[in-house]
Amino acid sequence: MADERYLRLNVPYADKEEVKSLFARWNHNEKFWYATNPKYYYRFAKWINTDVVITNSLGIVSAKMECWRCGEKTMVSGVGIQHNNMIFVTERLDLLNDFGIDLMIIPWSSAEKFIPTQLVQHAESNYHIKAAYSQAVNSTYLANTCSNCGALQGDHFVYGLTEEPLGINSEQELFLEEIPLLKGDLPILFEPNVQASPQTNLLSHTEVIRSKFSLTDYTIPQ
Ligand SMILES: [Zn+2]
Repeated sequence: MADERYLRLNVPYADKEEVKSLFARWNHNEKFWYATNPKYYYRFAKWINTDVVITNSLGIVSAKMECWRCGEKTMVSGVGIQHNNMIFVTERLDLLNDFGIDLMIIPWSSAEKFIPTQLVQHAESNYHIKAAYSQAVNSTYLANTCSNCGALQGDHFVYGLTEEPLGINSEQELFLEEIPLLKGDLPILFEPNVQASPQTNLLSHTEVIRSKFSLTDYTIPQ
């Protein structure tokens, strides 16, 4: 299983003959069924329970921005996924697919529902991401903070619809850290209310950097 793409499936015992007939394979050591060809993942949608699978790698996209409070340059970021690393396993999000995407940017506050804890820790250590408290919703959410003064950089400053660093019309130089997925492909819960920017013009001014870090634990906080 080392070099091939694979996707772990949630298969109840009663369905085992059915997945077998679709050419799912069985991992003897860890006792799970898995699919091996991303092209046919959609056939296993029933045992994936999400709409989107991320294949190969997951990214963090970043840019520089002036802090609204101290005026210093600080780094802001979000989850960034290249379109050729996204597999739509149901038809529910076909509209999004048809929209045209080269890089999907998802704010940390939306992504925290489906990204592994290990990735959050990486972002906290390297991108000034912190769990911030919001009085408005009386709960915490993941947010960009200034590396100089610590001020929260609200999502509207960072991912807004215009020329904001990670907005749809951004023309800034961006960096995409591509983080390899070592435990197989990663199904993500992509709910309709997840705020995301499908963008078709960003890769042309994005430097892609292969990360030294990789994801080995897909546990998501409950
Ligand atoms: Zn600042």
